[in-house]
Amino acid sequence: MTKIMNATDVDTPVIIISAGPAGLMAARRLAREDIDFTLLSKETEVPGEHKTCGGLIPLRSAEEFGLGSFKGAHHIRSLRIKFPGLVIKRVDFNRSVGIIASRADIGVALLSKVSRQAGSILLGNNVETVEIESNNVKVTVNEAGEKRSLRAHLVIDASGAIPVSSRNSLVRSRLEQQLMIGYGVQYQLRLPGKKLNADVSDIYYGHEYSPGGYAWVFPRGNNDVAIGTGGLLSKVRAVKRSTFEYLDYLMTNVEPTCSELKGAEIIKREAALMPLAGVVKPSYADRILLAGDAAAHCSPISGEGIYYSMVGGDLAAATAIKALDSKSFSSRTLSGYERAWTRAFGSDLKWGRWLQKRLVNGGIRGLGSKFLEGEKGPRIIAEMLLGERSVRSTIVAVGPGYLKAKILKR
Ligand SMILES: Cc1cc2nc3c(=O)[nH]c(=O)nc-3n(C[C@H](O)[C@H](O)[C@H](O)COP(=O)(O)OP(=O)(O)OC[C@H]3O[C@@H](n4cnc5c(N)ncnc54)[C@H](O)[C@@H]3O)c2cc1C
Repeated sequence: MTKIMNATDVDTPVIIISAGPAGLMAARRLAREDIDFTLLSKETEVPGEHKTCGGLIPLRSAEEFGLGSFKGAHHIRSLRIKFPGLVIKRVDFNRSVGIIASRADIGVALLSKVSRQAGSILLGNNVETVEIESNNVKVTVNEAGEKRSLRAHLVIDASGAIPVSSRNSLVRSRLEQQLMIGYGVQYQLRLPGKKLNADVSDIYYGHEYSPGGYAWVFPRGNNDVAIGTGGLLSKVRAVKRSTFEYLDYLMTNVEPTCSELKGAEIIKREAALMPLAGVVKPSYADRILLAGDAAAHCSPISGEGIYYSMVGGDLAAATAIKALDSKSFSSRTLSGYERAWTRAFGSDLKWGRWLQKRLVNGGIRGLGSKFLEGEKGPRIIAEMLLGERSVRSTIVAVGPGYLKAKILKR
């Protein structure tokens, strides 16, 4: 029995736009509390089936949502990191520290966490507009060419880096493209007759491998491997190379990747935007909450956003539940949401942006070759990328080396 039934002036109490990590974790929370909702998303079969993403989730984060293991998930125990001009370093953890899976497998796993007792999940529904009316919010959808409108008390817009609601600036306008948005490209590869060990993933820093960010090689434990690269749009546009050329170079010229990926077939070429903006406010307005990439819940330093999006979606749903209880959907009532996510992971976004500004302009070599060559430096960076260490604690750990390198440079 749902606690809140469809009221007469709305079709559903809450509309969630997205079947990504943020949208599905919002649905999970509403379903757990027995609140009716309608989730609308574009993909037609499997949530996340078309999402461009490396699919790495730190183990600690995955476990928080009961995703410690699922079909298609492979565990990472070591990270190899290449810093510019230095030999590749392997950091072993001797235990699982992360999960790698395709976004379709992650989508299925996330969907399985949503109880089907409450709410409707409607795939194949493209949301065209979101409009705030005097007593509700109206969402217009296009389902296989047929348009219809749905009304709700509240919308959780988790539709990605360029959210649907930014078309009419309901909460905020689009992020400043060049400096706040990142661009990532990826090949989905298949190795005929050969499996790569999923225990080990690779990260390559340096301008040979990426336009100001890093490249990754993520084997999926079967014949499939995702290899990608990216950076801030300002950097991507400033270089002459096409972003895919970095991947071609990595696959043909750079050890150990070129040997390990010999004979790999490119199954899919894909590209997508990611918010790398740090803390972006506001994330709410009357009758609307933004969550996940839509609210820039993505690490500005690593581009990892699955975990932050799951937390953002969950907190957005918790706020929606309070609003339904109090029957108030004003921005004032919803403001607690922003405080909640800022408390949960605002520090990583804030300090991630701080570190990004220094590293993108100064390059990772700015941390000092002594630091990067030693045992400690690569481990600290690996711990941050795998969610074993907060960004703030990383800055505290790298700070002395960074300052020393800067002083010596002067
Ligand atoms: C190249 C690349 C690699 C990445 N690798 C990683 C990684 O390894 N690990 C990590 O943690 N993060 C990674 N990220 C970031 C991560 O993918 C995102 O932060 C995360 O997916 C955000 O989740 P979300 O739920 O906010 O949005 P999304 O996952 O983007 O989901 C948005 C949802 O909204 C739906 N939607 C969009 N528009 C509409 C519309 N008009 N109507 C209906 N539905 C709509 C989509 O169909 C989708 O279901 C990567 C990003 C990129 C670009």
